[in-house]
Amino acid sequence: MTNLRTTKDWQAADSAHFLHPFTDFASLAKKGSRIITKAEGIYLWDSEGHKILDAMSGLWCVNVGYGQQSLIDAATRQMKELPFYNAFFQTATPPAIELAELLAEVTPPQFKHVFYSSSGSESNDTIVRMVRRYWDVLGQPERQVIIGRHNGYHGSTMAGASLGGMSGMHAQGGLPIPNIVHIQQPYAFEHGKGMDPDAFGKLAASWLEEKILAVGPEKVAAFIGEPVQGAGGVIVPPKSYWPEIQRICDKYGILLVSDEVICGFGRTGNWFGCETMGSKPDLMTFAKGVTSGYVPLGGVMVGERVAKVLIEQGGEFNHGYTYSGHPVACAVAVANIKLIQQLKLVEHVREDVGPYLAEQFAGLRDHPLVGSVDTCGLMGAILLVKDKAKGLPFPGDLEVGMVCRGHCFGNGLIMRAVGDRMIIAPPLVMTRSQIDEMMALIRQALDLTLADVTSKGWL
Ligand code: PMP
Repeated sequence: MTNLRTTKDWQAADSAHFLHPFTDFASLAKKGSRIITKAEGIYLWDSEGHKILDAMSGLWCVNVGYGQQSLIDAATRQMKELPFYNAFFQTATPPAIELAELLAEVTPPQFKHVFYSSSGSESNDTIVRMVRRYWDVLGQPERQVIIGRHNGYHGSTMAGASLGGMSGMHAQGGLPIPNIVHIQQPYAFEHGKGMDPDAFGKLAASWLEEKILAVGPEKVAAFIGEPVQGAGGVIVPPKSYWPEIQRICDKYGILLVSDEVICGFGRTGNWFGCETMGSKPDLMTFAKGVTSGYVPLGGVMVGERVAKVLIEQGGEFNHGYTYSGHPVACAVAVANIKLIQQLKLVEHVREDVGPYLAEQFAGLRDHPLVGSVDTCGLMGAILLVKDKAKGLPFPGDLEVGMVCRGHCFGNGLIMRAVGDRMIIAPPLVMTRSQIDEMMALIRQALDLTLADVTSKGWL
């Protein structure tokens, strides 16, 4: 079908009818979308036949890479057998049960139960209702407040966007909803310049305790955070941060929620980011990597502390989605998790390609534009700065990150810009030689960006 229409045809129909997420509709209509038509392994192809290395795994989700036959077969088989049945009214389907069992096996030991959704946003919406319900059942209904972080991302629904700390999202539609407050993120470049990382991690965690005391500990229900902030720019916190957050949550008895939508399913070199960062959450949200993005699925892993209360004392929980436990999505997730196990992708990231990527990124520090680099497993960020010695950023309105992103796209590399942080989260199946290939494209894009900003007199 794709061959019957030209790129221009697709672009015209696209701008006539399709409103894209997080997009300035008018400006995209002028430019025209890039039309992606196929994919294999870590590569995409556009409608003009260009091959592109996808260093973002789609949208942080295609962990096993594109074209995995076992996932395709699982979907096909399940569609033929039973394409849909719900989990309402005391029914269940085999794939939803099998996946629940498998999730209990691969998640940390406190998790034995799952509540399904179809996305990260829906999972985090579920969190708001579930933690408030938990405290209600325990006779502490005044515990309503959930603490998130500035620049955190937890989705785009009313509750998801409220839990997140994206100011641009809060500015539209009267967010955040009541009883959601935020603390500053653990980003050393902005909030801990010149500090010892360990001391900064503890300082950043202490902002949680400050907020708990300001709100009143008896009113706080939960704290939510991504182990590594993804959409905020791959902000890797100091090692001391999460254990200290855990200590503070324990001290006040508040629930700890780990948003594993990006960090889950091997991304950080363990099955879940909380294992890499050293926390023991009561609840975990997941999506993306659970099916490697082949079909939509999300959910909440409910730890024993919460599950026991909801199961033994809770009565009916008035919450759920038509697609909670969708059999096709669950069948694909089972195949995906089994493939991650079979290919030993978690170990591959932890012991091989993760450390290799860290080494390669460290090698970028000699580039005149690179102020700092961070990696955690197979996610990474390169901060572009105006003055390395002084650690001076470029003025934000120059949008140097977007200039660099343009050169990446031009070179056949998908890398994302968050301000002036250039970020990657490539498929976990990536090999060392593919990392070499990606690094050559990154260096090329950095050099072209340097030439650009030099000629514009921005340095
Ligand atoms: N949480 C995190 C950490 C995310 O990165 C995202 C999506 N990027 C979400 C939640 C929301 O997921 P979705 O877009 O599937 O609703």
